Amino acid sequence: MATNGNEINGTGFGSRGKILIVGAGYGGLATAIELKRKGFHVEVVEAARQLTTQGDIIQVGSNASRVMSNWGNLLEQAVAESAQPARMTLFDKSGKKLLEAPLPTEFSGYPVLYSNRGLLQRLIFEEAKTLGIEFRLGKRVKSYFEEDDCAGVEIDGERLVADAVIAADGIHSAARKHVIGIQQHPRSSGFAVYRTCFPLECLAKDPLTKPFTELKEDLFHVWLGSDVHAILFITVATQSAVIFCTHKDTYEVEESWTNPGDLHDMLNVVEGWDPIICAAMKAIPPEKLIDWKLLWRDPIRQWVSRTGRITLVGDAAHPHLPTSGQGAAQAIEDAATIGALLDKLGKDNIPDAFRAFEKLRYERTSLTQRMGWETRHRWHQTDWEAVAVNPEFLKMPQPMWLYTFDAEKYAYDRCDEAVESVRKGTPFISTNTPEGHVHEDWTVEMMMALEKEQAKDHFYRVANK
Ligand SMILES: Cc1cc2nc3c(=O)[nH]c(=O)nc-3n(C[C@H](O)[C@H](O)[C@H](O)COP(=O)(O)OP(=O)(O)OC[C@H]3O[C@@H](n4cnc5c(N)ncnc54)[C@H](O)[C@@H]3O)c2cc1C
Repeated sequence: MATNGNEINGTGFGSRGKILIVGAGYGGLATAIELKRKGFHVEVVEAARQLTTQGDIIQVGSNASRVMSNWGNLLEQAVAESAQPARMTLFDKSGKKLLEAPLPTEFSGYPVLYSNRGLLQRLIFEEAKTLGIEFRLGKRVKSYFEEDDCAGVEIDGERLVADAVIAADGIHSAARKHVIGIQQHPRSSGFAVYRTCFPLECLAKDPLTKPFTELKEDLFHVWLGSDVHAILFITVATQSAVIFCTHKDTYEVEESWTNPGDLHDMLNVVEGWDPIICAAMKAIPPEKLIDWKLLWRDPIRQWVSRTGRITLVGDAAHPHLPTSGQGAAQAIEDAATIGALLDKLGKDNIPDAFRAFEKLRYERTSLTQRMGWETRHRWHQTDWEAVAVNPEFLKMPQPMWLYTFDAEKYAYDRCDEAVESVRKGTPFISTNTPEGHVHEDWTVEMMMALEKEQAKDHFYRVANK
């Protein structure tokens, strides 16, 4: 066991053990709460001095709200400040309505939420503090280390040691290099997104957009063009509007949540489009617009380090494109899975628990990652003949296997089989993917090669029925 004067002895923290978590995004906070609920001592290290209010809308599917329903009365508060649009309306770029697709607001009694990322992250952070989880904010983890019986991180010359480390450090994860042994940079997806969240009252000035300020129901409108889609989203509870415009990444935009966007450039992308979305864009306060590069990574099978005491979760393991609507939800499913496995296997079997976690999660998240690309492709390389026959072709998938899933139960139920597969090297058959689904590994390269092909139904692995 590595120790020095400042170190915390990992095995000295009660019978359940101590877990260090890196990153206080949705993945890190959710994992901290799930482990605290199961009796572990948890400490979270986060690079930001205070939790950011950056970001706009984040979808929390019922597969995630099911997990959050165990976190005091947080879910009620989240519902009160989130949107739950009853439908998504799709238009072509001229404004012709193509489809009004009902959006379920719940599955199995658990809500589907479209929340403000900063507001909801703040609620989860407060819940974590109430539970007694310790936070070290403003501390960037510089390196990771591990031995057979412990693992830890270095921050500002200090070494923190615990029974295990869970790295929830997002798409630019430094832990990923430690775990897989090579530096892999995230890849451009070929697209960037102008995105903004601003007070709804800004839309009151133009008669074309004024009716949006009088809405009593949340609104989700999507306009489709070739290689471009635009979204107008209105949350009545917070009286806010969100606009996205996904466009070809020709400007070498940096991936940053603060990279300013140019309103003039954004309007050029939709020149000649439906006057309503153009008017809504013209109302954006320029200082509230960012241009955000859409990055992604190949799915990787290895999330767990050499000794089995460090694992990746959330975007560090499996970053999702926004069109999946599942980035946060899959991070929260990870949390429930790890909580159940460590609860069942205990601190004496952490490497087995983490490797079982990989088995339980890889094929499902590889598919939800791919689903984000598929939806974008449906919208950008639209097969208009298929749409003429069946406009439902454009629907965003919200399949039952995804939205009704109980990650915690699945982990408890299949823990023994996953551990046996880890120990004996026998195959593990995932049952948290669509019935009949046969897993295929894929890479960003493969998807980019398909990018220009026109969207046909057989092209997709996730049906949008
Ligand atoms: C500022 C920001 C705004 C976002 N806004 C949106 C949005 O509007 N809509 C949307 O769908 N998705 C948004 N996302 C992405 C979304 O939050 C994630 O896809 C998803 O919730 C999975 O979360 P995560 O916890 O795995 O990763 P993240 O949310 O990226 O969290 C990672 C955390 O780790 C911290 N961290 C990174 N490196 C270190 C280190 N070395 N030491 C300590 N801490 C470290 C980061 O500061 C961050 O808080 C945003 C992400 C960020 C960082």
